[in-house]
Amino acid sequence: MVPPADNSPDAAPTRAAGPDEAPDIWPLTAKDMDGELHVGSVPMTALAQACGTPLYVVDEADFRERARQWRESGADRVHYASKAFLCPEMVRWVGEERLHLDVCSVGELELAVAAGFDPAHIVLHGNNKLPAELSAAVAHGVGVVVVDCAEEIDRLAGYAADAGRVQDVYLRIAPGVAADTHDYMATGSDDVKFGFPVNGGFAERAVLTVSGIPSLRLTGIHSHLGSQILDPSGIRRAASRVAAFVRMLAERHSVRIHELDLGGGAGIAYVPGQQRLAPAEFVAALRAGVAEELDPASVRLAVEPGRSLIGTAGVTLYEVGVVKQGLERRFVSIDGGMSDALRPALYQASYTAWTANRRLTGRPVHSLVVGRHCESGDIVVPDIALPDDLAVGDLLAVPATGAYHHVMASNYNFQPRPAVVAVRDGQARLLVRRETPADLLLRDGAGAAIDLSGDLR
Ligand SMILES: *Cc1c(COP(=O)(O)O)cnc(C)c1O
Repeated sequence: MVPPADNSPDAAPTRAAGPDEAPDIWPLTAKDMDGELHVGSVPMTALAQACGTPLYVVDEADFRERARQWRESGADRVHYASKAFLCPEMVRWVGEERLHLDVCSVGELELAVAAGFDPAHIVLHGNNKLPAELSAAVAHGVGVVVVDCAEEIDRLAGYAADAGRVQDVYLRIAPGVAADTHDYMATGSDDVKFGFPVNGGFAERAVLTVSGIPSLRLTGIHSHLGSQILDPSGIRRAASRVAAFVRMLAERHSVRIHELDLGGGAGIAYVPGQQRLAPAEFVAALRAGVAEELDPASVRLAVEPGRSLIGTAGVTLYEVGVVKQGLERRFVSIDGGMSDALRPALYQASYTAWTANRRLTGRPVHSLVVGRHCESGDIVVPDIALPDDLAVGDLLAVPATGAYHHVMASNYNFQPRPAVVAVRDGQARLLVRRETPADLLLRDGAGAAIDLSGDLR
């Protein structure tokens, strides 16, 4: 069975919609100036000329405005879920915006620390944290480790005890609520790989175990329902279940929990007609759910948005290389594809596109924007009505690509990964340089013999 698309697929093709028509999908500073797209007061044609395509463009002002909205959302603390988009400059922006940072690998952790982020404001996630990740977290003095499974409790307790530290932990629970999103983005039901299920008593027993370990201090309960959630009713239900669990802990075991970290997942608009779930609305739904079971003043509330902070800040630029009329649909081939935009292949995600270099006036034609990779599923925009005067050499901009694009990029077909540039107030700055074939060849092992008693890890 094909799972449902993550954002209400239309039977009809998506409309091509620029920033004037569908501002929710575009960066806040995006402007269509007589057919030429500008972001951060930088013309995208000049940027593509200077940096080449495909190119990831990030609107710094958009991110900072979303950060402000989350700071004022009513949550007591906001963690940026760094897996959505991460590079050293992003880490600095997150710090400047006074957000905390979630990481879920030692790589993300080391990057954040190297970029100067305060480890005390870092939270470590992961359903199978490697011993090296747990020990690095303790060594760096990471603020909170979110304990996800039984194996991890002992390992982490050991590292903390060895370091003579008491490590603050949250316990991740699965509240048994299905999210209204694509199956691959739902993480809160009983039957998922993440966290301890409440049903069956797993979460309760884990709390008691952690509470009895001197090198661990249980400071909060964590739950994350899923991603790209547009309807707040599910997160309200999940928050209520988590709060009921916390109330049970106090009543039955006298275990007091003062922090709830209720995850991220606030959805954004990808195609015309969709509306993002506003930060204040997301937090209000969580608070309403918590208030059903607990005195709201008795717990502090943390949230972990990723996509909602950086998704609409990003636009990807591509050059059209081939336009082929099929029997029913037109195929518009661009110079990137699933190696830089995996989400359509991974979750049947929908997007729109818009020409960035000139105004098109033709009749809309049912089109697929496809990549250069050797897969029929290599689709960047699955179904879109694009004007029939779109031609080879046009610059195509795909909006809402700030989250889960750069970080999911691969080298399939030995494709070097695109550069990332930030734009703001007429200035463009390089965040990540474009990969070169020489970069890829650096990993050539040349068939060197492996000493089986050595260490190539
Ligand atoms: C991915 C993830 C998030 C962020 O999800 P978004 O949909 O990007 O907001 C938050 N918390 C956890 C635990 C996650 O795995």
